[in-house]
Amino acid sequence: MRKKIVAGNWKMNMDYADGISLFSEIVNMVRDEKNGDQEAIICAPFIHLNSLAKLGGTIVHIGAQNCHQNESGAYTGEISAKMIKSVGCSYVIIGHSERRQYFAETDALLAEKTKAALANGLTPIFCIGETLDERNNGDYFNVIKSQLTNAVFGLAAEDFSKVILAYEPVWAIGTGLTASSDQAQEVHAFIRSEIAAQFGSEIAEGISILYGGSCNPKNAAELFAQQDIDGGLIGGASLKSRDFTDIVKAFNA
Ligand code: PEP
Repeated sequence: MRKKIVAGNWKMNMDYADGISLFSEIVNMVRDEKNGDQEAIICAPFIHLNSLAKLGGTIVHIGAQNCHQNESGAYTGEISAKMIKSVGCSYVIIGHSERRQYFAETDALLAEKTKAALANGLTPIFCIGETLDERNNGDYFNVIKSQLTNAVFGLAAEDFSKVILAYEPVWAIGTGLTASSDQAQEVHAFIRSEIAAQFGSEIAEGISILYGGSCNPKNAAELFAQQDIDGGLIGGASLKSRDFTDIVKAFNA
């Protein structure tokens, strides 16, 4: 059975004190709601990671939002996957559309980051998704296929099977526009069929594919009920403990 996952992405929000207090609330609330086959993750700014992992990293797992592709060296201001792992993190988001857009991260670079994460024992949460123009042009299957092919389909099957994918239509991120459950399911089923064609059906059936884009406590249950949607990557709603917990609870709705 595939793991059911709700991962929060705090982005560049929360100073240190606010982050600790929000995370403590989330741990206390999620502790009672999560079943054994479910995983809750918070991907926080780097400065929080060490403390959050110590506070409650076994109940709500901790992830970073980016990593550098190299292990160490003269890369001022950067943080490596090895460093992230060393503070007790288990996950790292790679290829978020904001990184692709504002920091010009290419598929080739994201392939390197994914390999660095896996080599250091982190599970990549690898994001893919089309822009509004690409959706309106009807080009979204090609865009998603090329993001997969150029970044993660080059991995060895054993490595790929450790990756979590997140389908995040760019037009739905932070906009309040959510893909309908049918739109999301259509793309998730497509992604799974592409994985099956590349790596075989056993790996395809085992990979968790999350939906991200204005997911909230009202729409989560319907999205998560779709056959190929295994949870969510949650931006805005992960900044409120009640909303995040209610999204975790949506699996049991
Ligand atoms: C995200 O940033 O990954 C995201 C899904 O954001 P939001 O939930 O705010 O749309």
